[in-house]
Amino acid sequence: MGVDDSQALQRAPSLAQTLAREASERIGARIAADIEPFIALRRDIHRHPELAFQEHRTSALVAERLRDWGYEVTTGIAGTGVVGTLRRGSGGAGGSGGKRLGLRADMDALPITEATGLPYASVHGGVMHACGHDGHTTALLTAAHYLARHGDFDGTLQLIFQPAEEMGGGAQRMIDDGLFERFPVDAVFGLHNWPCVSAGHLGCVSGPAMASVDQAQIIVRGKGGHGAQPHETVDPIVVSAQLISALQTVVARNVDPLDMGVVTVGSIHGGFAANVIPDSVELQLTARAFRPEVREVLRQRVPALARAQAESFGATAEVNYRLGYPAVLNHEGETAFAREVALEALGADKVEAGFRPRTASEDFAYMLQARPGSYLFIGNGDSAPLHSPRYDFNDAVLAPAATYWSRLVERYLA
Ligand SMILES: [Zn+2]
Ligand SMILES: [Zn+2]
Repeated sequence: MGVDDSQALQRAPSLAQTLAREASERIGARIAADIEPFIALRRDIHRHPELAFQEHRTSALVAERLRDWGYEVTTGIAGTGVVGTLRRGSGGAGGSGGKRLGLRADMDALPITEATGLPYASVHGGVMHACGHDGHTTALLTAAHYLARHGDFDGTLQLIFQPAEEMGGGAQRMIDDGLFERFPVDAVFGLHNWPCVSAGHLGCVSGPAMASVDQAQIIVRGKGGHGAQPHETVDPIVVSAQLISALQTVVARNVDPLDMGVVTVGSIHGGFAANVIPDSVELQLTARAFRPEVREVLRQRVPALARAQAESFGATAEVNYRLGYPAVLNHEGETAFAREVALEALGADKVEAGFRPRTASEDFAYMLQARPGSYLFIGNGDSAPLHSPRYDFNDAVLAPAATYWSRLVERYLA
């Protein structure tokens, strides 16, 4: 659809399309002319990263800016969450009319020791903005600033600054704290930067966009003993070796070949010497899927297989299977709208045709379970991967991201 869209726009721009394009260009020019203080702000947030539910400085900074620009600001949602509300026209004072739009940014950092060597590197040892949430927060603030001064819209804008995306499910905690009852929205959108996609290029995916992520800890218990007398033991290392191979059959033989499933054993620990058979081995694995039905297959088959496989060798397997974030399921209508806005705001050459879903996870999934919307991707250029100690958000992405957000608001709340 992306290719057709771009050709259609190039082929026969209607008057409406021309006007839309000009409006987007005006927004882009204004934001670009004012971007320097926001780059400084992004670097300031980068320098002072905070872990899940501890985003006190970041949250205070966001609230202060929004207040300065005339937003109604509510703090303390799910602890450090902030919502800035801006009403115009029929959404204005006393008015409850007009549409309501939510835009969400995440504020938390990761327990990683930064290795970028940048002048604005983290001053908090062992904590780092390695996922670009400093950039997401700043891009939404950049749009907030533009919209407060020049925003041409009618309705209610809810800017949602969320804690604890990386761990702790801050999105669900905000929803539990009455987010959508206190700040009603007809649709909600979010945006994540993506390394190795051209800087500022937008990616839209309809349907499953990111995977569910569950974890299992498996403890294989046997009977330890001397490495020279294996017949007197139940060797959990041999059992684990068989189990790891057998687990590969869950995706290969239980999941529909047309669906996506991942089972990755990422950790195995057992034993301490070449000539000693240990009593137990611990495995840790991650299980991912796009469709809830596949997620359920993995949840059933991984523990069943682990127990049966262990038993077949005279060992036992204790399985602790923990459900994490569900899959990000983008709504079709909102995604088509987001793509249309991207084409006019950024230009057809900056909208990635055929952008593919990602097998990482995102707690924005919970917001999309509660309200219609879409989770989008914006290229971070040639950068280190997310969660790498050498990663940094690309400041060149701030202006296009803020331009896109601003235009999305003006179009949705037209
Ligand atoms: Zn992350
Ligand atoms: Zn992230």
